[in-house]
Amino acid sequence: MERNKIYVNGKRRILVADDEFINREMLEAILKDEYEVIKAEDGAIAYDVVKENKNTLSLIMLDLIMPNLNGMELLARLKEDSELKSIPVIVLTSDHKSEVESLHKGAADFIPKPYPEPDVIKARVRRLIELSEDRQIISATATDNLTGLFTTEYFYRYGEQWDKYQPDKKMDAVCIDINHFHIINERFGMTAGDHILQILADRLLEIFPTDDCLVCRKTADTFLIYCPHHEDYQNIVDKIDGIVTDIAASIKIRVGVYPCCDKNLEIQSRFDRAKIAADKIRNNYSVPVSVFDEGLLKTELYAEQLVEEFPNAIEEGQFQVYFQPKFNIEGDKPVLSSAEALVRWFHPEMGMISPGKFIPLFEENGLITRLDEYVWSSVGKRIADWKRRLGVSVPVSVNLSRAEMYDPSLISKLDNIINENGLTTDDLYLEITESAYVRDSSEISNVVNELQEHGFFIEMDDFGSGYSSLNMISELPIDALKLDMYFIKNAFSKSHNTKMISIVIDIADYLGVPVIAEGVETEEQYLAMKELGVAVIQGYYFSKPVPSSEFEKFLTEKGEQD
Ligand code: C2E
Ligand code: CA
Ligand code: CA
Repeated sequence: MERNKIYVNGKRRILVADDEFINREMLEAILKDEYEVIKAEDGAIAYDVVKENKNTLSLIMLDLIMPNLNGMELLARLKEDSELKSIPVIVLTSDHKSEVESLHKGAADFIPKPYPEPDVIKARVRRLIELSEDRQIISATATDNLTGLFTTEYFYRYGEQWDKYQPDKKMDAVCIDINHFHIINERFGMTAGDHILQILADRLLEIFPTDDCLVCRKTADTFLIYCPHHEDYQNIVDKIDGIVTDIAASIKIRVGVYPCCDKNLEIQSRFDRAKIAADKIRNNYSVPVSVFDEGLLKTELYAEQLVEEFPNAIEEGQFQVYFQPKFNIEGDKPVLSSAEALVRWFHPEMGMISPGKFIPLFEENGLITRLDEYVWSSVGKRIADWKRRLGVSVPVSVNLSRAEMYDPSLISKLDNIINENGLTTDDLYLEITESAYVRDSSEISNVVNELQEHGFFIEMDDFGSGYSSLNMISELPIDALKLDMYFIKNAFSKSHNTKMISIVIDIADYLGVPVIAEGVETEEQYLAMKELGVAVIQGYYFSKPVPSSEFEKFLTEKGEQD
């Protein structure tokens, strides 16, 4: 398959400047099938036309002897002008002496009069245009070694050229990503991953033919496409999803589209928008196509703002740790058993920002480590303070993010917090989300094992939302299962079916660990959980997450009961 042919849809534009009517007509007749020919009957007019069309002219064919401004003078003017000098010029002449002079003055080639065969003229014109376009992009390596598709730099340059030739054509900027491509790499190896990228590249070229589309590979598994407007991208997903390869791995893609893009925007920004749209559905497999809208841009800008303001916010103490009680419901009366620490950001202008807005963002860019250290250390101090002032405390669990599991100093950081505050590992529990285990399971398990051996109580958070197999779970170091909130939501929405919850409880029994149900909001749910044998409950039914001062009332109550 020919991939790296330079192709711009629409005809390239050529100026023929000649004072003789018959010459102009002849050249036009020869070239008009392949090119859009514009004509000028003297040098002065030609100069104006060139200036007017400087961005779209592919070639100038110039007669040397013309009234008003002769060809040689015009050539000199063009070559002095930084905006015009890159447009190639072919000189048309019957005078052999002038040929050499015109080449010296910057003409790229000449065609003698009387004119040679039309095919010779066409071939020269074609070659010259190609040469000059090649020269313009010589700095960009044209194609990607692996897939043979355009590289990003080349792709953007051609996209821009393309726009010049068809400024009014409606074009879509499209970004295609493979879902969980890293898992394919991990499971089948890099060679297999590369193979899949090649297959996908081939399929993309079939779907987006090079005569009116441009396709490039941006990074690992991200592909960009510039194509005439399509209404139906689901249809394209259907042609790609489930491509089965000889390693029996099938892929699922997500597509971000910025349709009928605004050509006043830099080409790169158009594709940034397509990428923003694709990223929005990163973890949502049921929705494969996402269309850009301005709201998304606002979200993105908002995200940038949060990241920028983070260091200052930490300095100024804008983050505050809230506590949500967990109650053991196995006995006659619910008993406060522990709490979860949940962070909030009190922004001076935006007010309270919930962690759902910034945690995923900070997990992506690594800021989470800094924030969590702050949270853990606040929690350590707080527990010590309760013990000292109130004479009572409960274990508080903190959330660990995936990135932190790779921090070799994780244990020593947690140790420091415990030691500095005179606590033990019975005071500080750890919540680790199930999805953290699923990726790189063996590596993460080793870390969690170490934490557990060190004495920490490990709660597997959001259980049921990941994809762990029973087999895997039975080997994981866990002390409690926290049922994902959606189980409760689903069980009590329309269906009133608690079957799934029973199954999870059976799994927990099999593992010999208690179940904690999160997101219990109503008495009905509370009673149902009790009936099913859930050990611990956390949710609005008992309390929302509250500031530490408010949480103290649960502690004093407990102190009085004990
Ligand atoms: P999570 O660990 O699953 O935390 C439970 C979330 O459920 C909390 O949301 C909590 O306020 C909410 N919730 C509790 N009970 C109910 C209920 O009855 N109904 C409903 N609808 N919601 C309930 P929040 O505080 O917004 O936290 C969201 C997520 O942000 C947390 O999910 C956790 O993954 C993350 N997060 C929060 N604080 C931290 C932190 O300090 N460090 C890290 N790494 N992650 C954190
Ligand atoms: Ca949690
Ligand atoms: Ca959870």
